[in-house]
Amino acid sequence: MRLILVGPPGAGKGTQAVHLAAHYQIPHISTGDIFRANLKNGTELGKQAQSFMDRGELVPDSVTNEMVKDRLGNPDAAKGFLLDGFPRNTNQAQVLDQILVEKKMPLDAALELKIDHAEIIKRLSGRRTCRGCGASSHVEFEKPKVAGVCDKCGGQLYQREDDKEEVLNRRLEIYAQQTEPIISFYNSKGLLKNISAVGSVETITKAAISALGK
Ligand code: AMP
Repeated sequence: MRLILVGPPGAGKGTQAVHLAAHYQIPHISTGDIFRANLKNGTELGKQAQSFMDRGELVPDSVTNEMVKDRLGNPDAAKGFLLDGFPRNTNQAQVLDQILVEKKMPLDAALELKIDHAEIIKRLSGRRTCRGCGASSHVEFEKPKVAGVCDKCGGQLYQREDDKEEVLNRRLEIYAQQTEPIISFYNSKGLLKNISAVGSVETITKAAISALGK
């Protein structure tokens, strides 16, 4: 299975990606997670990405496309992959196409997670992320057993800078302007599937698997 997930910030791409990657036994490749890991480790790539991420802007394509091309060259991607957070504009979608043609690894589907604006704001303003493992929880809808502590690894929970209101609004604007057009790009290729991203995590995973097939 070679799959990309598309949807606005807060649609639950990261959460669904973990379940779908486990189901299809494929690596979960999240460009946001790769950037955050690089930031945390103080790498050159992290330094290049930081100012864009802090403002909710896209990291330039030249940096992001190279990083994804590299990652897809890892041996584990030969058995399939799930891309989460990439592509995010039409240039990235076209570059991905070229990479996959070169590697003779055609995409099976682009899965769109659909959700409305009010629900996104509700989810993201209360989202907390683990400094240790990157897992998400929510101060109201998915409370950790101990406040401020990750259920999965015991790490410290924090609010991502880019989940704060001002930056969040910019991310949503960028999604509408730059990312939404890739939905028609994949639709025209006959690869688009879409499901509602509202409901329990389990229900949404089931809907995704039924849309994608075994
Ligand atoms: P995410 O965790 O997917 O919301 O990504 C967090 C931030 O990382 C984004 O707001 C961007 O600054 C950066 N980022 C992640 N994926 C991409 C991408 N495909 N292209 C450009 N920037 C990205």
